[in-house]
Amino acid sequence: MKRLVLAGGGHAHLHLMKSLVSQRWRDVEVILVTPYTRQIYSGMLPGWMAGHYSLEQCAAAIEPLAAAAGVTLHQAAVVAVSADERKIRTSTGTTFEYDALSLDTGATIDTSCLAASGATHIPVRPLEQFVVSWERLLDKARRQGACRLAVVGGGAAGVELALAARHRLLNEIGERQVTVSLLVGNELLPGHGRRIRQTVAACLVDHGIALIETRAAGAPEGLILADGSVLPVDAFLSATGVRPPAWLQESGLSLAGDGFVAVGEGQQSLSHGEVFAGGDIASRIDQPHSKSGVYAVRAGPVLTHNLYRHLHGQPLEAYSPQRRSLYLLATGPKAAIMSWNGIAARGHWVWRWKDWIDRRFMRQYQGMPSSAQGERHGTA
Ligand SMILES: Cc1cc2nc3c(=O)[nH]c(=O)nc-3n(C[C@H](O)[C@H](O)[C@H](O)COP(=O)(O)OP(=O)(O)OC[C@H]3O[C@@H](n4cnc5c(N)ncnc54)[C@H](O)[C@@H]3O)c2cc1C
Repeated sequence: MKRLVLAGGGHAHLHLMKSLVSQRWRDVEVILVTPYTRQIYSGMLPGWMAGHYSLEQCAAAIEPLAAAAGVTLHQAAVVAVSADERKIRTSTGTTFEYDALSLDTGATIDTSCLAASGATHIPVRPLEQFVVSWERLLDKARRQGACRLAVVGGGAAGVELALAARHRLLNEIGERQVTVSLLVGNELLPGHGRRIRQTVAACLVDHGIALIETRAAGAPEGLILADGSVLPVDAFLSATGVRPPAWLQESGLSLAGDGFVAVGEGQQSLSHGEVFAGGDIASRIDQPHSKSGVYAVRAGPVLTHNLYRHLHGQPLEAYSPQRRSLYLLATGPKAAIMSWNGIAARGHWVWRWKDWIDRRFMRQYQGMPSSAQGERHGTA
């Protein structure tokens, strides 16, 4: 019996487990190590913040999925990987040896420059902590009847958080009691095209969100801006850039320049053939691409095929990530902005499209019967 360890319950591993529900792999024991028993879907998180979804609608329940897939769930975080010894260690002190390891633990965010703030700081990751903190912030705003909120981070996530937060706060405590600022560093939506930047900037203006193009640091009085002025806030959310988890550094795995796991065309580690990685934790050396959910989802099928092939001594499949991706950004009320190949559009119809895509995606992982099924064995 060979052992496959799945680290993290991210998008690619949800796909892998779903594929095991219909067809298990002969002579392979599969263990999933993940700290939470659900996976909150970031694509629907702004809609939840805005009040359009319940949290259950935005989450995949991992326990029944793992049970139906015949996967053993070990609820803990990976804290160390020793790639040369083919071992991982978890936060409960358990060590697992493996024949193959698949990494899909996502990224963390770098909030070190915001640490000194006296205001409530709510980093968007881990999402499980974020959802608790956001509920607390709403309670506090309701009690105080006012909220001065900032969002630090000029990427798509920062934009969506700012628009969702304002929409919800307005509904909860009224327009005159709410101010929302978006601090974007050097520019809004770096790496995105001119059209989408213009469309998003216009949308922020329409929703009364102050766009501040400067870097911010935490200070006891609130947020301190690059010119030395202080932005007084009651709380701020951060969606600053991604960074690799600290334990990767000591793993012995070959890392890309950005510190994430260096993988090649089959999502296979460049240094250790039995290690595979998908989603934000992986960086393709041959075809670099941005870190987004779109690529994390697309990595699911290739990881599934190649882990199966590796464990059964078959040649790996090459995979080319798409060069362009569709972005659909929720904008607070049931409206959204789309961006594709230099084109940008905005409206309620975009929201309906996004809502349809997101709900359809999540339906795959919801309502899973917990009884074991899919006892067939075979190829991936
Ligand atoms: C607010 C927001 C909105 C976004 N909207 C979009 C969007 O609309 N479109 C888009 O393409 N991208 C979007 N993104 C980016 C997207 O969320 C990420 O690119 C995507 O989630 C990466 O998927 P992943 O599977 O690599 O990791 P994740 O989705 O982060 O999943 C990682 C999993 O691993 C678990 N884990 C973490 N650490 C460990 C550990 N040490 N050991 C074990 N398990 C661990 C986590 O609990 C989680 O279950 C958004 C991000 C945010 C924050």
